[in-house]
Amino acid sequence: MAVPHALVVPFCGQGHVAALMELSHHLADHGVLVTFVYTEYTHRQVKAALPENFSSDYAGRIRLVTIPDGLSTDDDRKDACKLLSSSMNAIPSFMEELVLKINEKDEEKITFVIADGAMGFLFDVAEKLNLPRAAVWTASTWTLATLLNIPMLIEDGVIDENGFQTGDKMVQLSEGVPAFRSAHLLWLPFEDTKITEIFFKCVEKSSESMKGISHVLCNTFEELESPFLDLINNAIPIGPLLPANKAKHQPSSIWAEDWSCIDWLNQQPTCSVIYVSLGSTTVLSQHQLGELAIGVELTGRPFLWVSRPDIMGSFGGAAYPEGFMERVGRRALIVGWAPQKEVLSHPSVACFLTHCGWNSTMEAVSNGVPMLCWPYFGDQFLNQTAIVEVWKVGLELEKEDDGTVGKEEIREKLELVINDEGIRERLTHLEEKGKKATMKGGASARNFEGFVDMMKKGKMSSLEH
Ligand code: UDP
Repeated sequence: MAVPHALVVPFCGQGHVAALMELSHHLADHGVLVTFVYTEYTHRQVKAALPENFSSDYAGRIRLVTIPDGLSTDDDRKDACKLLSSSMNAIPSFMEELVLKINEKDEEKITFVIADGAMGFLFDVAEKLNLPRAAVWTASTWTLATLLNIPMLIEDGVIDENGFQTGDKMVQLSEGVPAFRSAHLLWLPFEDTKITEIFFKCVEKSSESMKGISHVLCNTFEELESPFLDLINNAIPIGPLLPANKAKHQPSSIWAEDWSCIDWLNQQPTCSVIYVSLGSTTVLSQHQLGELAIGVELTGRPFLWVSRPDIMGSFGGAAYPEGFMERVGRRALIVGWAPQKEVLSHPSVACFLTHCGWNSTMEAVSNGVPMLCWPYFGDQFLNQTAIVEVWKVGLELEKEDDGTVGKEEIREKLELVINDEGIRERLTHLEEKGKKATMKGGASARNFEGFVDMMKKGKMSSLEH
C-alpha cells in the first residue's frame, strides 16, 4: 500500500495552526506523510517561539514548508481586511506552485489536500490539480451549521446578501436544535463593518466549497454536538483533538510558552487556581485591564494569567493598576503565553476565565474545567451560548452600559463558577464522553481511522460527492 502524502494547509491564526498541527501528528502516527504549509510570516513567528536548537520532523513524517501570504514584510497582519483579502487572492496560486514543485519529483507526490475550512477557496486549486480533498473545521459544528445555512438565512430575511443582520432576531436552524441570536453569527461580532463584509465573502465561499466535500473533519464529539452534527451530512467528528505528540515544544505556537507556570501550579493546592487567558487576539483597554486585574485580585485566590505582550494592542504591554503586583505577590503568576493544554489538565486549576475560542473550549471540556465566558469576536459568542445555555458548564459575564466588565462582576462570577456543583457534574460527564470518543473503538477514533484507511486504500474518489 503506497504511503499517502497529505498537504495540510491551515489558516494563519493561532487556533487554526495549532489544531491542524495536532491533526498532522495524528495522521503521521497513522502512517501518513504530511507536508504542513505555513505562511512565511507565521513560520517566522513559530520559529521565534521555539528554542534555538529545536528540530522536529516527527520521525521524518511531517515536513514543514512555507508559502507567501501576498503581503509585504511591513504590512500589518493585524489588519483583518488586508490579511483576508490577500489570503484569498494570493494563497491559491502559491499553493498550486508548491504542489506542482513537490510533484515534479517521482517520489512522494502529494496525494491529497487537507485544507482548513476557513480557506475554502483552496479546494478549487485541489480540484484543478485533480487532487482529492478534505476539510478541517476548527470551530464548532454549530458554527459550521450556521455557515452552511447562509442561503436560508438570506431567504428568511435574517441577513441581507452582504451578511448584515436585518435586526437582532432569534434563529433556529431546525426543530429540536437550540436557538441563537443572529447578532452572534460568525461574521457579525466585529467593530468594523468592513471586516464583516470581507469576512462574510470569505465564509460564504468556504461554506459553498465545503458542501461539495464528503469529509469535513470536526474537532468535536457526538455527545457534545449531536443535534448540530445531525444537520450536516459530511461533518465527521474526530475530537476532542488531544495531544498526539508528547514533546514539550511543538511548531504550532506563535508565542514562546512559559513552562515555569507548571512548576508554579505544582505548588498550589488542588482545585484552587483561577486560569485567565483570553486567547491569541483579544485586546483590552487600559481601564478594562485594570478592572480584570482587580476583579481577580479580589477573589483572594491564586491565579495564573496569560497576559500577551500585545494584550493592549498598539498601546504596548500591560500596565497593571498601582500596587497590584506587590499586593498579589506570589499568589499570582503572570506569563506572556502558557502551555495551555498542560495548564488545563493540571489538578490545581479550579476554573478558566476564557474568551471561548473553540480550541480553548474543547480543551476545557476535555479536562473538566468550568468556564467563565468573556467572548471577544467571531464564533466566540456562539460558543458562549453553547457553554452557558446548552451544556450548562460555565457562566457568562454581564457588561456595563459602556461595554466594560466590572471588577465586582468578575469577582462574583468567578466565585459562583468555582462553587457550582452542577457545572462540575455536567463537566465530569462530558469529559468522560470525550475520552471514550477518542479511545480505541470510540466514535471519533473510528471516524478518524476510517478516514485514514480510505486515504491509504487510494479510494479518494469516494471522498468527494
Ligand atoms: N494557547 C496556548 N497558550 C496560551 C493561550 C492559548 O497554548 O497562553 C492555545 C490554546 O491551547 C489553543 C489556542 O492557543 O489551542 C487558541 O485557540 P482558540 O481557538 O481557543 O482561540 P484563538 O486564540 O485562536 O482565538
